[in-house]
Parts: sequence; C-alpha cells; structure tokens
Amino acid sequence: MSSFSTLNADLHCHSVVSDGTLTPEALAERAKANGVNLWALTDHDELGGQQRAKAAASALNIDYLSGVEISVTWMGQTIHIVGLGINADHSGIIEGLRRTREGRASRAKFMAEQLLKVGIPGAYEGALHYAGNHDLISRTHFARYLVEQGICKDTEHVFKNYLVEDKPGYVPHMWAKLDDAVSWIKAAGGVAVIAHPGRYNFNAMQMDELYKHFKDIGGLGIEVITGSHSPDQYKTYGQIAQQYGFLASRGSDFHDPDESHIDLGALPHLPDHLTPVWSVFH
Ligand code: AMP
Ligand code: MN
Ligand code: MN
Ligand code: MN
Repeated sequence: MSSFSTLNADLHCHSVVSDGTLTPEALAERAKANGVNLWALTDHDELGGQQRAKAAASALNIDYLSGVEISVTWMGQTIHIVGLGINADHSGIIEGLRRTREGRASRAKFMAEQLLKVGIPGAYEGALHYAGNHDLISRTHFARYLVEQGICKDTEHVFKNYLVEDKPGYVPHMWAKLDDAVSWIKAAGGVAVIAHPGRYNFNAMQMDELYKHFKDIGGLGIEVITGSHSPDQYKTYGQIAQQYGFLASRGSDFHDPDESHIDLGALPHLPDHLTPVWSVFH
C-alpha cells in the first residue's frame, strides 16, 4: 500500500447499515468507478456492514480498512470519532457499540412526539421505513421522511429548521464517552480519528482541550479533507494536524448520490506536508 498523499483514500462513508442509502456492495462498486484505491466503510455505531464491504472491496481489488464512526458526548455536545483498521470481530468494541445504539429507539419516539406537537404526524413509522437497520434509526431517516412529506425541500433544509437544538424534533441524547470510544478502537487494534472537527460548536479553548485530551488518551488523527469542510477549513485543520502532531485523514462522508454533495473519492488530495493516517497501515 502506498503512503503517498496522492493515494485516492476515502476513509469515511455510510451504507444502509446506518444512515446511507447504498448497500456495502454498491458503495464498493461506486468507489471502484471513482478510482478509490483505499476505502473504509464507517457506519455510525455499527459494524454489521464490515464483512460485506471488505469482501466487495477485495473482489474489486481495492485496499480496505475496517471502520466505524462512533457517536460521543463530550462537554455536553455530540462529536464523532472514526475508528480505522479495527478488528471488526473484537468483542469489546462490538459490546460498546451495542450499548451506544441502545437509546436510539426511545429517542426516535420522543422525536416523533415533538414533531407531532408542531403538526407532523407519523414521523416514527415514516423514519423507520427509511432505516435499513432498525437498531440504527437516526435523524437522517427523519430528515428523509420530512422531505417525502413535502415539509422541507431537501435534507439540508431539514437540518436547518428541524431536529437540531432549539428546533422542533430535537431530543438531547447521551452517547458514548470519549475515553470509552477511543479505548474500544485501540483495543480492537485500530486508530482513532476526530471526524469533521470543523463541524463542532466549541470555542477555541474547548477545541484545544479536545485535541490535547484526545492525544493524551491515544487518539492519533483528525479529518482534514472531508465532505463536511470548506476549502478554508482544509487549511485550518491541516494546520491543526501539524500543530498537535496528528495524522491527517481524508473521507467524503458520502451517504447518498442525491443528498451528498461530495461523491466517494471525489475530494482534493491531502496536502503534501501532512502525514496521512494510512501511513500507519503499511
Ligand atoms: P444522529 O446520529 O441520529 O444524531 O444523526 C446524525 C446524522 O445526521 C449525521 O451522521 C448526518 O448524516 C446527519 N446530519 C446531521 N447534521 C446534518 C446537517 N447539518 N446536514 C446534513 N446531514 C446532517
Ligand atoms: Mn450520517
Ligand atoms: Mn459524522
Ligand atoms: Mn459520517
């Protein structure tokens, strides 16, 4: 496996096993068609797609890293931690993720109750209809239902007006602890990476504390080039990677051909001066 920053690595995307709309096999085909040569499927809180993704990648001659994106609550906010190169059969991470998923069904019922109060009925059943995996009902599935009902024109519009803090359908939730998520990933032989740091609403001091604490507990990487960052943020988080000594990751966060504005593998390369996270998987 090449360690060059020009490798077309896409180390963040979702399948029907979480809140994506394509199967692991269809994602592998799409990755191949788009010239991806190192791929990781990183479903939310769930490893159920890993075997299929790995087998499909292997059949298409794409190098594969087993992956996951873990929902974490840190300082009262939700952040996401990606695990790469994990052993997807490791009992510790399987059990940790099972517990992380547990509250989703009751949260979804609360969300539906909140939506009913603003005149939107049937949201629980409607969202469930979009969930390929009923253990993993997520806000994305509600967003698709609100679009289907003509309440919003697209999912982006949903996440501006519903399902987020101070808007109808928002239900606060306690996810995994940061230290636990990182320790599950490490115990399963993987590398922990802070997903899309540009998306969090922390101030500079809190972000500094996050980077330092994450590093202290053995976190190694941050996403620099991601579908969630603007070109300005590519620069900002490239500098953060250098400043804190993090490995740099690259991933589209692809969910669906219509919803996602960045396709699998269709991202700028990592800047040359950064050390790619895949350099540790020689
Ligand atoms: P959940 O884990 O149920 O809270 O759902 C989180 C998912 O909602 C994320 O993984 C995204 O797929 C989606 N999401 C959250 N915020 C946005 C946003 N602003 N625009 C589009 N999708 C979003
Ligand atoms: Mn998602
Ligand atoms: Mn995420
Ligand atoms: Mn994601």
